Amino acid sequence: MARQILLVDAVATNRIVLKVKLAAAFYEVEQTISAAEALEQVRRKTPSAILIGGLGDASPVELCRQLRAIAATAHCPIVVMAAESDASARIAALEAGASSILDLPCCDALLLARLRALLRGHETEMELRMREGTHRALGLSEAPASFDRPARIGILAEERRGLAGRLRELRRMLPHRFEMMSPREVFHPLTGPLGRQAGTGPDVLVIALDADRAEVEMQILPDLRARTATRHAGVLVLAPDTTGPLAAAVLDLGADNVAPACASAAEIALRIDRLTTRRRMADRLRSTVQAGLRAAVTDPLTGLFNRRYALPHVTRIAERANRLMRPFAVMVADLDHFKKVNDTYGHAAGDAVLAEVARRLRDNLRAVDLVARIGGEEFLVVLPDASDRTAGDTAHRLCAAMSEAPFVIPGGEAPIRITISIGVMIAQPARDGGPAPEDLLRSADAALYEAKAQGRNQVELSRRPAA
Ligand code: GH3
Ligand code: MG
Ligand code: MG
Repeated sequence: MARQILLVDAVATNRIVLKVKLAAAFYEVEQTISAAEALEQVRRKTPSAILIGGLGDASPVELCRQLRAIAATAHCPIVVMAAESDASARIAALEAGASSILDLPCCDALLLARLRALLRGHETEMELRMREGTHRALGLSEAPASFDRPARIGILAEERRGLAGRLRELRRMLPHRFEMMSPREVFHPLTGPLGRQAGTGPDVLVIALDADRAEVEMQILPDLRARTATRHAGVLVLAPDTTGPLAAAVLDLGADNVAPACASAAEIALRIDRLTTRRRMADRLRSTVQAGLRAAVTDPLTGLFNRRYALPHVTRIAERANRLMRPFAVMVADLDHFKKVNDTYGHAAGDAVLAEVARRLRDNLRAVDLVARIGGEEFLVVLPDASDRTAGDTAHRLCAAMSEAPFVIPGGEAPIRITISIGVMIAQPARDGGPAPEDLLRSADAALYEAKAQGRNQVELSRRPAA
């Protein structure tokens, strides 16, 4: 779908020139001639981006502020265009919520590169906001914490003297940690000053291009996007020229934002702030996705993996065992007479017992072993790389870990004795892939049935794959 750009400018020739340029790049253009008309228009239809030029009925900064107050355009990219904007005008526009300031006249390439960069950033942000909303609705995510750790801001500049004064001011203005960095330190965060403290790359990078070497220095930009440590960092470039093809190339190479080399500390601070906010939103989302995935494969009562995780993982263990030609063990452990615990002491006591059984299982296994709760009072244990002997020893140790010490239950009752029975199946490696996980489980189940029949609190070994 074509992106719609809303153009707001009182001067007809300005509108016509811009419309021709934008239409040539396949944007759909809507034109309005005043702030009042623009506000009415966005209520009818939300544009993909808004370009504001000179107006008769309000200042561009004022219109920008009003657009930010409307839900539909609160996050929409807004470009304020100005002939030779000075530092204070740029700050006023940024404070009013402008996404970008375009100095006129500017070359076509830059206008289009700006729009591309803004739309790219905006679409990512909208996607993040939408997913965050979904995660919150599912109860997987908390509302954003009001307190954030200070962000790590890397400053990359060959000519450091020119920045020293502004860096001092930035440190005073923002709660973040600023570090001068070399390209080497950016790419190898473990050896860099930021990485030494945090083990990761910077949240935001400010790159000051040298006037004589800008073309060469900006070649770092695609690399930043290609490397793990810096892929998600916000990138602000201070460029010797922000109206020509250099700035356009900087944006197209992956910078999020470009500002004049002489930009004041206040302006840089506003731009850093915006990049940090977006970076944090993305980080929060990534950790929510991880937490969501964890929740989907974890049993909430015991914290163990659930059946959904366990079965594919058994397949993975089997594949590895077949490759290395080593046997592995599949065990099913089931609590003995557990129904009686519930009937006598109540469901809460039963739950406490299940959680404690899980803890004892985990404590008595290696990190590489899999423990999962696959049924109400049934646990699956898989030992990669285990002979009959190791598997048998481990199973007996697990039985003993339950029977040796009584279980404390809630409600003031005396601790109770709990035992488990275990069926063990040793899976021999097979070049043809061997039996499916479900079949291995069925064999272990058959052995468990035997253990129950033999009087419980014991281990039974099976060698036969299920028929
Ligand atoms: P057996 O020794 O033959 O395994 O006897 P059992 O009583 O352990 O086996 P049975 O299958 O008859 O009963 C299992 C009980 O486990 C019944 C059910 O109430 C209980 N149970 C299953 N899931 C949970 C749970 O999440 N919490 C609690 N408290 N009890 C559960
Ligand atoms: Mg049972
Ligand atoms: Mg059972």
